[in-house]
Amino acid sequence: MPERILTIAGLDAFYGDFQALYGVDMTVAQGEVLAIIGANGAGKTTLLRSISGLIRNEAAQIRFRDRAIGAERPDMVARMGLAMVPEGRQLFPSLSVEENLLIGGRVGRPGPWSLRRVYELFPILEERRHQASTSLSGGQQQMVAIGRALMSNPDLIMFDEISLGLAPVIIRDIYAALAGIVGGGMSAIIVEQDITKALSVSSRVYCLQEGRVSLEGRSDSISREEITRAYFGVA
Ligand code: ATP
Repeated sequence: MPERILTIAGLDAFYGDFQALYGVDMTVAQGEVLAIIGANGAGKTTLLRSISGLIRNEAAQIRFRDRAIGAERPDMVARMGLAMVPEGRQLFPSLSVEENLLIGGRVGRPGPWSLRRVYELFPILEERRHQASTSLSGGQQQMVAIGRALMSNPDLIMFDEISLGLAPVIIRDIYAALAGIVGGGMSAIIVEQDITKALSVSSRVYCLQEGRVSLEGRSDSISREEITRAYFGVA
């Protein structure tokens, strides 16, 4: 059995008085790719933000390896080996492509990922390395966001809405790159609106509905009917 690297147990998350997650349980094994699906507002982003420390929770509700990280700050979580590729990329607009990538490297974790390797993965970024990140297409900006996360040499990388708003040809390139990234043993959590894509890249899938896990199963054996029921809450 591969080692379990992330354990979420009974996670509740709040925005003020509003409760966005209710008792979420989830696990990720070393080298595993997990997909999270669910309708708009189901709580997918809240879950990733909780794991990465952008929303603080009770410490014991999220464990990374043997450490309780639910109450840790984002910079600490990054140093422990978790990285997030946020929805909408969130690059630094005044910085160049290369400067954005180097920010990921500031986390200071040793490992195989370097500027050189990111440029091998996405050669277009090397061509554009001195350009402002805002001058790139949406797909290229997504590559910068992925490269920036990889530069921190994470053990677990999380992608929020990985293909949202991108052209099909770019989505294909990003998924091809993803296969190489996780092939090296890194674990991944992928939030993806395209259910077929989500199932094809992952070994297990969780569906969230109104802040609760409505379905969990193996991606290769789950039926469309089960997903429809879990996604929309229809009987
Ligand atoms: P989407 O696909 O639209 O991003 P999601 O599944 O990622 O949806 P979340 O963004 O996690 O869902 O939102 C979960 C719930 O929390 C929603 O009801 C949303 O309105 C609410 N919510 C999200 N962010 C905030 C916030 N900053 N303040 C208050 N409520 C929020």
